[in-house]
Amino acid sequence: MKVAIIGAGAVGSAAARFLAKSGNQVVVFEQFERGHAKGSSHGSSRIIRKAYVDRFYSELMDDVFPLWRDLEQQCNEKLYVETGILVFGQPDSRYLHSTRDTLLQQRAAYDNLGHIDVARRFGGFHIDPDEEAIFQQDAGFLRADRCIEANLNIASAAGAELRFNTRAVLSDDGSINGDKYDAMAICAGPWTASVTGIEDLIPRLQTFAYFDAPMERDIPVWIDGSENHFYGFPDYGAGFKVGRHLYGPVIDPDEDRLSDDEALSQIAAEARRRLGADVTLESVQCVYTVAPNEDFRIGALPADIPAFWASPCSGHGFKFSIWFGKLMCDLIEGTESIEDWPRFLATGSK
Ligand SMILES: Cc1cc2nc3c(=O)[nH]c(=O)nc-3n(C[C@H](O)[C@H](O)[C@H](O)COP(=O)(O)OP(=O)(O)OC[C@H]3O[C@@H](n4cnc5c(N)ncnc54)[C@H](O)[C@@H]3O)c2cc1C
Repeated sequence: MKVAIIGAGAVGSAAARFLAKSGNQVVVFEQFERGHAKGSSHGSSRIIRKAYVDRFYSELMDDVFPLWRDLEQQCNEKLYVETGILVFGQPDSRYLHSTRDTLLQQRAAYDNLGHIDVARRFGGFHIDPDEEAIFQQDAGFLRADRCIEANLNIASAAGAELRFNTRAVLSDDGSINGDKYDAMAICAGPWTASVTGIEDLIPRLQTFAYFDAPMERDIPVWIDGSENHFYGFPDYGAGFKVGRHLYGPVIDPDEDRLSDDEALSQIAAEARRRLGADVTLESVQCVYTVAPNEDFRIGALPADIPAFWASPCSGHGFKFSIWFGKLMCDLIEGTESIEDWPRFLATGSK
């Protein structure tokens, strides 16, 4: 089949690899340059974890981890850095309780830790005496930019044509930029709403930053389970990365972005509190595509050919992007149906 893929981000690159390796003639359209920083997937790291509040996502991770391991083997490069995860909060934190419940239900081992254990075990990382933590081993970070490159390189070696700086425009007759295809996968991230017309996917601006801190670099990834929802990474070369999983201002992804100084100062305060960090090395902006209930979305366009779209969004989708890339391939080849995944179905989907 001649398959068009719109978007060379986390999902599009994975879809390209699966579809090309499966023998399809793949053309990938990416509106910006290779490795650009205008979508949702740029930068060096995204958290991967089994420790989820929602059991559905935690269970799905059992299918996701092997896919990343398989990609690592295919590209012969380390993409998943396993650090474990520290989740902490006040004893009445719903996030902490639900995460613990999910892990218990799945018999996934974890340790309960107090503030002294945390500081001793993780190089001085600070939680308050009235906070508590759990540590779970099946977690760490994905080297995001390298994951996308790995997928694109393998897709390209399998014959996929990668067209960068080429915006795909869909016509009413189903053609893309004037050419007909047998199938299409729309993996447009923050542009999904504008490409598909689905309205409940809202692009929001997010800010994170890298810090220098006087502590051991080799800490786990971490999530503050309070309503503040800060999160962070070890220092893997660029500094300690700290961000906040709280939805930023709604934006048009095509417009210039203003810096969010308030978000940045709150993140800097958290880096000081948890890591003793005083020096901000770099601040970065990124876009969340937010769906209701923090869920992911898939759908089919009303077309004469198989035409599917996917957005593992809401700020936690990178780890699942490889699974969605495979799903795009399976949907197009007819071995899966979108009805198999009712939780992700968008209103108005076929
Ligand atoms: C600050 C931040 C932190 C995050 N942290 C985590 C985390 O720790 N763990 C986690 O699992 N997830 C995390 N996420 C979420 C995750 O990064 C995203 O869910 C994921 O990257 C989405 O990938 P995507 O392929 O859907 O979108 P994108 O990577 O944005 O890719 C879409 C691509 O489509 C292209 N495109 C769109 N329209 C067209 C068109 N018409 N023609 C051609 N090209 C087009 C765009 O240019 C873009 O390159 C985070 C996101 C952000 C912003």
